[in-house]
Amino acid sequence: MKIMKKVIVKISAAGKITSGFPWIYRNEIMTIEEPVEPGELVRLYARGGAFLGIGYVNPLSQITVRVLCPEDRPIDTEFLRGKISKALEKRHELPTITTAYRLIHAEADELPGLVVDRYAGILAVQINTAGMERLRPLILSCLVETVKPDGIYEKSEEKFRSREGLPTEEKVLHGRVPESILIEEYSARFIVRLRESQKTGFYLDQRRNRQRAASYVRAGFDVLDLFSNTGGFGIHAALRGARSVRLVDISAAALEQAEENIRLNQLEGVETARADAFDHIREAYEKGRFFDLIIVDPPSFAQTRRTRESAVRAFRQLIAGCLRLLRGGGVLAVFSCSQSVSMEDLKEASLKASGDTGLKLDILDYLLQDIDHPVRLHIPSSLYLKGLLIRKEV
Ligand code: SAH
Repeated sequence: MKIMKKVIVKISAAGKITSGFPWIYRNEIMTIEEPVEPGELVRLYARGGAFLGIGYVNPLSQITVRVLCPEDRPIDTEFLRGKISKALEKRHELPTITTAYRLIHAEADELPGLVVDRYAGILAVQINTAGMERLRPLILSCLVETVKPDGIYEKSEEKFRSREGLPTEEKVLHGRVPESILIEEYSARFIVRLRESQKTGFYLDQRRNRQRAASYVRAGFDVLDLFSNTGGFGIHAALRGARSVRLVDISAAALEQAEENIRLNQLEGVETARADAFDHIREAYEKGRFFDLIIVDPPSFAQTRRTRESAVRAFRQLIAGCLRLLRGGGVLAVFSCSQSVSMEDLKEASLKASGDTGLKLDILDYLLQDIDHPVRLHIPSSLYLKGLLIRKEV
């Protein structure tokens, strides 16, 4: 086997690695056998000499080593094939529900730095670390061999790659990638445009929550989908028979795609409004508009713990505003996609909003990201998407 350099970690880090936590921070390392290149594979040892696993190193990153496996084995085609088939197995029920799902979710699928989404015959790939960059040829050949996609498109995130000292370029990596891809999710159809879209293309993590929120719709319902992006929640609600659905987003590009999705699903009564959601809530209140179901799915308000408090304030304001727009007995689905905002924080914001409006609320359910974005118990940050389903008193 190829000679790999040795990294010796402190006792505290050794325990974490053994329990399955995949990150080793710079200050947890005792010695690194120099010189190492960004992305190079290394063997990990505890201070007493016990072998801990294989990982890859990047001296430029605060997360200096990411663990790939606890065994002493080559990181080769067979290794990657194994991880891909394990990931497919975890998601085995999804192909009966949808043609689009996340196939590899980085650390939560034991492949740190790699994200792969499947959109019907096309894969969207993010290679976000120097370690995964070195494995790029191997990753691509394994994906082609196991998934047999018509095309692969790179959608790596600049924010991550620049931290790792890597350039970013969006491009076709294999086969042909059409401008628009048609996907199906339960009974809804959506167009995904990888070249223009946010993130890796579509908010797949909200799949079952879209279905869940729509399950409350009854004939005659008016629905407000705030931060709608390309219409995911609202289109499901319309397919369930809502009388009217309003999609609100600040992005013109997202709403253009939403319009396409409305036509694609042959829906009537669905309208789009380009606006700031906070302003829109205020205006709707002034105009005396009421709704039976409101969805609030904003971008991350808090990147760090320090901004957590301002995020809770923003949620309090959003929830209070929405409660005023809900008819009695109406349902609010509110989500946070930030790791640093917890379910307790969402509850706290709701409680305060209930105080602000003088309304009693029932919690109908706690919601999470869908199963193709696995939540690993020993990687707390893998749980990022939380939602509350709330009913306003009748
Ligand atoms: N619910 C969507 C995903 C929402 S992502 C789905 O199921 O697909 C968050 C969205 O919020 C993005 O589309 C972004 O353009 C939009 N956004 C960000 N800031 C906003 C604001 N102040 N007002 C309205 N929309 C905003």
